[in-house]
Amino acid sequence: MTSTMRALVKAQAAPGIEMHEVPKPSAGANEVLIKLEKTAICGTDLHIYKWDDWAQRTIKTPLVIGHEFVGRIAEIGPGVRGYREGQRVSAEGHVVCGVCRNCRAGKPHLCPYTEGIGVNRDGAFAEYMVVPATNLWPIPDAIPSELAAFFDPFGNAAHCALQFDLVGEDVLITGAGPIGIMAAGIAKHVGARHIVVSDVNDYRLKLAADMGATRTVNVARENLRDIVDVLDIDGFDVGLEMSGHPGAFEDMLHVMYHGGRVALLGILPKGAGVDWDQVIFKGLQVHGIYGRRMYETWYKMTQMVLTGFPLHKVLTHQIPINDYEHGFQLMAEGKCGKVVCDWSGEIKAA
Ligand code: NAD
Ligand code: ZN
Repeated sequence: MTSTMRALVKAQAAPGIEMHEVPKPSAGANEVLIKLEKTAICGTDLHIYKWDDWAQRTIKTPLVIGHEFVGRIAEIGPGVRGYREGQRVSAEGHVVCGVCRNCRAGKPHLCPYTEGIGVNRDGAFAEYMVVPATNLWPIPDAIPSELAAFFDPFGNAAHCALQFDLVGEDVLITGAGPIGIMAAGIAKHVGARHIVVSDVNDYRLKLAADMGATRTVNVARENLRDIVDVLDIDGFDVGLEMSGHPGAFEDMLHVMYHGGRVALLGILPKGAGVDWDQVIFKGLQVHGIYGRRMYETWYKMTQMVLTGFPLHKVLTHQIPINDYEHGFQLMAEGKCGKVVCDWSGEIKAA
């Protein structure tokens, strides 16, 4: 008889998510089995929950979702070296091919054959999950699990924010979602001058200010072009687009200083326009950002937290996994920073 476990499953091609009893996986060659302690809810999980266009195009049901997590190694598969049972770990959510040109050049974050945990293969909203040992990231004892649970999006923020030298620079971040908030903190941590964060959500702008933004802008009430005058600057040196909103990107291009650098993390809708005059005549550098560097971004974020980066400030809700519907609700309403679910205790299945 195979043993079973509880997991949040996208069972049907329709909105919603359900706690189901599913077969418990086991570690194959070069893999480990992780017993989950905590799983955080990502915007991607919400897309899958809502079953929007992107989810319909991308997700094959049934699928266990989730890719932001921390847990302990419960079983070590054949061929795995360097890890031990009981060790606390998170893991990179992109499983790369390991044999393409980029992987072999030490640039696996640019692997064209990447598979996403909780997107293309079963994920972390489960009592147990299996990941390739190469993806593991050990968590030092000094870092609490509720923070390690969302190293994945912290890594998106770090990879994007550390793309350019921010020391002494004026930085604009459009979008104060969890990633924009953490990016504001990183800009502060490394020594940017003005750190302006825009959103339409005052709750989130407040979190961004607590995290290190020097000025927040609610674009429903204020104009970014006016802020340039208020700050008495020529424009922003660095732009981090973290909203996925075409209007925000458009505004950003207009307030960039000549020769500025723009990193695009927010996922813009298909066909979103670009005012190329801004890019060409101002000589802007525009860089797409996907995922994290493996594993240099993981190293940097671990060291940042160990040296006092206030990651806890973006964590607004910790809930038992049984309350997952409430968690998805909070995310849908934007009344939260990071929401982390806990797997200890008895789990109710549908
Ligand atoms: P989120 O959806 O929680 O945050 C986006 C924020 O943008 C929200 O707070 C929203 O109110 C705000 N916003 C909406 N319109 C705006 C406007 N006109 N100006 C400024 N802000 C506006 O998302 P998140 O989890 O923080 O992620 C940020 C973005 O990055 C999302 O688009 C997400 O899909 C994307 N993402 C990309 C990668 C990658 O690897 N490239 C990884 C993770 C997430
Ligand atoms: Zn590859």
